[in-house]
Amino acid sequence: MKRPLSVFFLTSEVLPVVKTGGLADVSAALPAALSEEFGDEIDIRIGTVGFKGVERLPGFRLLKTFITRTPAGAMTIRILEGRLSKGNVPVYAVDPEGMFNREELYGENGTEYPDNLERFSAWNHALLHLPAVVGFFPDILHANDWQTALSIPLLPHVIRPSLAVTPMKTLLSIHNLAFQGVYPLDQWHLTGLPSSYNRFDGLEYHGRLSLLKGGIQFADCITTVSPSYREEVLSEPGGFGLSGALRHRRESFYGLLNGIDAHEWNPETDQYLPIQFSRAKIGKKSALQKKLRQEWGLNSRAPKPLFGVVSRMTHQKGAGLLAEAIYSMGLEDDLREDWVILGSGDPSLEDLWERIQRIFPGRIRVKTGYDEPLAHRIIAASDFLVIPSVYEPCGLTQMYAMRYGTIPLVNPTGGLRDTVESEKTGFWFEELTIAGIKKGLKKARALYHDQEGFDSMRQRAMAVESSWKNRTREYENLYRTLLSSPHGTNTVP
Ligand code: ADP
Repeated sequence: MKRPLSVFFLTSEVLPVVKTGGLADVSAALPAALSEEFGDEIDIRIGTVGFKGVERLPGFRLLKTFITRTPAGAMTIRILEGRLSKGNVPVYAVDPEGMFNREELYGENGTEYPDNLERFSAWNHALLHLPAVVGFFPDILHANDWQTALSIPLLPHVIRPSLAVTPMKTLLSIHNLAFQGVYPLDQWHLTGLPSSYNRFDGLEYHGRLSLLKGGIQFADCITTVSPSYREEVLSEPGGFGLSGALRHRRESFYGLLNGIDAHEWNPETDQYLPIQFSRAKIGKKSALQKKLRQEWGLNSRAPKPLFGVVSRMTHQKGAGLLAEAIYSMGLEDDLREDWVILGSGDPSLEDLWERIQRIFPGRIRVKTGYDEPLAHRIIAASDFLVIPSVYEPCGLTQMYAMRYGTIPLVNPTGGLRDTVESEKTGFWFEELTIAGIKKGLKKARALYHDQEGFDSMRQRAMAVESSWKNRTREYENLYRTLLSSPHGTNTVP
C-alpha cells in the first residue's frame, strides 16, 4: 500500500449542503470517487459553508465551536459535521456567525451581496483554522474557484509553518474563469493579507484585487476542468483577463476532465424517474417521455422529437441565441418539435423564454427556477439536449444526457468538445449563430426520423464511460506528484 495522503477539499458548494451549479456536483462526486477508489490511501475531507438549514440535513450535527480572529474581527465559528450522501467522506460546514444563513449563497435578484468579500474572507480564515481544531493534518489543501482561492496566499500567514506538522501543498482548481472574486482595493483590509501582496504579481488586478488571481499566483499547482478549456484560457478572450497569469504558471497548470456521479445519474436506478430504463430497455424511455408530455400539456399526435434544455439562463449558456433560433424556426415551419426548458438566471432571459412560450403554446413549455427532480426527468425523457454555450469549462449535462440516451447538441467549446463526438455520440453546431443552431436542430430532427441511425447514436452515447471512477487516477497522480515536489514560491517576499 502506498503512503496514505490526506486532502482538505475546500468548496463553497457541495451537495447536499448547497448548489447553484456544476461545482456542487463535482465537489460531491470527485471526493466520493477518490475515497471509493483509493480507500485508506486517501483521507479526503470537505470544508464548505454552513449554509441556511445545514443543521437540519440528515446526519449533520454540531461538532465544535471556536473563536478566531478574522479581518472582520473576532468571530465565533461553528463547525457542523456530516457526510456526503454516498460513501463516508466527512463534510465540515463552517459557519462564521451566520454569515451564510441567507436566502442565497452569493446574492439575490441578480445582485451580489455587498459584503461578499467580508463573508468569504472570514470563512477562508475559519477554514484554515479548522484542521487544528478538529485534529486533521492534511498534506494538501485543494481549493476550488475564487471562493476559496484566498486560502492559498493566506495559508502561510494563518498557519505558521513552524506549527504545522508538515507544510501543506496547495492546489487550485478553476471551474470557470469568468468568476474571479474581484473587489475594490479599498476593501483590501478585509482579505487579511499583508499589503505587500498588493502588486501585479500578487492579487492586484487592474487597480482592483482579484482573489482568483491570488490563487493562481501562489498555488503549487493549478487545474482546470478539461484539456480544451485549458488551451482556451491561455489566451484572451477565454482567460477573462487572467490568461497572462496562467501562461506564467503554464508548467504547473493541467486540464483534467470532469466526470459524473454515476450513482446519482443512472437511468436504471434514478429515484426521480417514475419509469426507469437501461441501454437494453431503452424502449421504456418512450413511456417516460409520454408521461412528461402529458404532464406538460405537450400532446402531439404525430411522432415528434422532444428537445430539452436544463441550464442556467445566462449569456454564457447561449440562452438568448437559442430562444431566437427557436423563434426563427417557428416562423419558418410552425415548429415541428416540442421543447421543455428548465432554467433560471438572468431575469431578462427568463422573460424572453416566457414570451417564447406564449408565442408557441402547447409546443414549448418553460419552467423558470431551480428543480433538481425535474432536471433529471427532462434529461432522461428528452430525445435531444441542447447546449449552445458560448464557452463551457467542462459542462456536466451533456454527459448526463448521453448516459440517458439523450443526444447532446453542443457548441464544440471546452469540455463540450472533449466529451461529445460529433456525428457519433451527438452533434456539434457548425457555428454559434442563429443559422448555425437552426442547422444543427434540423440535423437532429432528420436523425430522429431515421429510426436506425437514431437508435445507433443513442446506443453509442449510452456506452460512453464518463464516470469519475475512471478519472480519479489523474487526481491521485497529481496529489502524489505535489507531495514529492519542492514548494513553489507561495509567498510574496
Ligand atoms: P454550470 O456549472 O456552468 O451551471 P454544468 O453543466 O457544469 O454547468 O452544471 C450544471 C448543473 O446544474 C447540472 O447538474 C444541471 O443539471 C444543473 N442545473 C442547471 N440548471 C438547473 C435548474 N434550473 N434546475 C435544476 N438543475 C439545474
